[in-house]
Amino acid sequence: MIIFHDPQCADYGSSTRPDRPEQPARVSTTVARLRAAHLDWQWRLPPLADEAVLRLVHSPQHLERLQFAHDFDEDTPYFEGIYQHARRSVGAAIAAMEATLDEKQKTFALMRPPGHHALPSQAMGFCYLNQVAITAFVARQRGIGRIAVWDFDAHHGNGTEDILHDREDYLFVSIHQDPAYPHTGKMSSGNCRNYCITPHAPREEHMAALRRSWNELLAFKPELILVSAGFDAYVNDPITEMSLEVADFAELGRWLAATSIPTVSVLEGGYSADLPELIDSFLTAWAL
Ligand SMILES: [Zn+2]
Repeated sequence: MIIFHDPQCADYGSSTRPDRPEQPARVSTTVARLRAAHLDWQWRLPPLADEAVLRLVHSPQHLERLQFAHDFDEDTPYFEGIYQHARRSVGAAIAAMEATLDEKQKTFALMRPPGHHALPSQAMGFCYLNQVAITAFVARQRGIGRIAVWDFDAHHGNGTEDILHDREDYLFVSIHQDPAYPHTGKMSSGNCRNYCITPHAPREEHMAALRRSWNELLAFKPELILVSAGFDAYVNDPITEMSLEVADFAELGRWLAATSIPTVSVLEGGYSADLPELIDSFLTAWAL
C-alpha cells in the first residue's frame, strides 16, 4: 500500500472555522494511526497538480476565483491558500493513479479538501476542485480506455456526475443517502448510476445496495477504478443518518482486494472521531 499525503493539508480550517465538520484532525489523526499500525506501508509526498490538468475539468474563471478571498458558501469558505491546498489534493490523486498503473500498487490519497461535490465552475460541500474527475481525465490522456468511479461517500457525488455524464467509456456509480445534501442523484441517467439509501436504513440493506453497485461497476469491465472513498455512511457520523459499522468498511476493502483491475482510492468525507479506524479497516482489508 502506498499512501499519498502532504502534512500541509492540515494547515487550514481549524482556527478560522472550528465549527465545520471538515477539520484538519480528520487527516492528522488518521496519519498517526496508519503510521503506527503499518510499518511496511510506503508514504509519498504528492506534487502540486499543474494548472493545465485542472483545466481539463474546471473553468479558468473558477481557478481564478479560488485565489480571491471570497466565500463560496457556508460549508465552503475561502481559506488562505485554499487554491494551493486543493491543487495538492488533486496532485495526490493523480500521483496515486500513476503509481497504481506504473508500479501495480494499491494506492490511497489521504488529503483534504475532498472533491466530489466540486463542479466545473463552483466549489461546494467542502470541495474546491474535483480530484477524482480530473484524475479520470488524466488517466484517459495516458491511454486508459474504460474508467469507472465508485463513490461510496454518504453524499451524492454531484460534481463527479456532472463532469462525467454522457462521456463515452466513463461510468459513475454512487451510493448515497436520500434525502440528503446535495439533493441530487435521485435517479440513474445514462452512464451515471445512482443507488439511494433512505435515512436509518438497516446496514444489511445498505451493504446489499453497495454490493449491487460494485457488481454493476465490475460488469462495465473498467480498465481503471477510481474510488471516492467517503466514510460518512458510518453509524456514528455526526452529519448523516446511515448505519454502516466498522466491519462494513473492511468488507468494502475486501471487494477491492478481490479484483485484479487497477484501483485507486481517494479520501472524500467522513466526520466522526472514529474516522482513523474506519480508514484503517478499509485499507487493511484491501491491502491483504
Ligand atoms: Zn459525504
